[in-house]
Amino acid sequence: MSLDQSRPSRSVADAVPALADRLARLADQAALTGADVILISPGPDLEYFLGHSVGSHERLTCLVVPAAGGPALLVPTLERPGWSGTPVESLDITISTWTDGEDPYLALAAVLPPRARVLAVDYHMPAVHALNVQAAVPGSELTLAGEAIAELRMRKSEKEIEALAAAGAAIDRVQRRISEWLRAGRTENEVAADIAEAIVAEGHSRPDFVIVGSGPNGASPHHEASDRVIEAGDVVVIDIGGPMPSGYFSDCTRTYVVGPADGEVAADAREVYEIVRRAQAVGVAAVRPGVTAESVDAAARAVIEDAGFGKYFITRTGHGIGMEVHEHPYMVAGNRQVLEPGMAFSVEPGIYLPGRFGVRIEDIVVVGDDGPVLMNTAPTELTVVGAS
Ligand code: ZN
Ligand code: ZN
Repeated sequence: MSLDQSRPSRSVADAVPALADRLARLADQAALTGADVILISPGPDLEYFLGHSVGSHERLTCLVVPAAGGPALLVPTLERPGWSGTPVESLDITISTWTDGEDPYLALAAVLPPRARVLAVDYHMPAVHALNVQAAVPGSELTLAGEAIAELRMRKSEKEIEALAAAGAAIDRVQRRISEWLRAGRTENEVAADIAEAIVAEGHSRPDFVIVGSGPNGASPHHEASDRVIEAGDVVVIDIGGPMPSGYFSDCTRTYVVGPADGEVAADAREVYEIVRRAQAVGVAAVRPGVTAESVDAAARAVIEDAGFGKYFITRTGHGIGMEVHEHPYMVAGNRQVLEPGMAFSVEPGIYLPGRFGVRIEDIVVVGDDGPVLMNTAPTELTVVGAS
């Protein structure tokens, strides 16, 4: 049996119709938002539209999607071979190259539609590229394409939801194993190293973040891990996640109590834990088509405020998730985005008591036709680990 190298592989061919549809809808978004062209640099947006990306560096790579006319891709000559066999060759995209020694911005200007003046750039384009492209097109204006792109990325297809569910299941398996590693006498860093290994062992490409916030460190929501030695009775926030080979991220937080010698959880820890658990459940229950993103935040926040801990809930309630761990839509006061089936985001209220401890519980939720669909199913009951 011989392989026909000239034909794209089946997985590439399968991806092409969805990518072509995304590109067509992005062109519509450009027209709708008044952009003559949307410019996309390496990163999750490029991956989303082309099914392939490269490392972002000082050499310019740029996808050009005009409001009217076909898309183009400009790549450094030395990287052109890396694009062969990727979906871009099966899409209706003109590929052009520039070589070291040439001006990449003039090369880009040459592939823009002749009268393009409003250039919308994706969130990830380095300023050096954005400003140099603008300078190469006299009379042009830079705008942000992030929200236009989010209009597409925020609405997940069934395949994307399957990928998020697989990511959720993988990180849940790690959360279910926490008692293997978390106990008094170990440092946060030691526990984090074991968790990082398990994140990969359970199917991720790599760990993206491993937060082990023990005792007072848990009161800092983005504390990562330190040399602090975990003590009996500590409340410990474990917030972990990473990308799967599909490119889709997991993100799940559970808060544990490290077994005190007498087996009793301090009353204040239990009280705060149960308030956060209720707030998180109420936030999840508020998710359905037709409600606003800010209403999900308000629902979770009301529980914590009514319990008298409102000033210790110092974050928004959640963030969208997909090919990035934080993306639109954000569950935050002021966001009137109406939720639709297929939108995916975290619900992660917390209470952070400075100098004492923090509690956060986080699940990823997809908006279903009638309500929330949880991507995480690890138990949320207060779990005591390492009890002696
Ligand atoms: Zn998280
Ligand atoms: Zn999160």
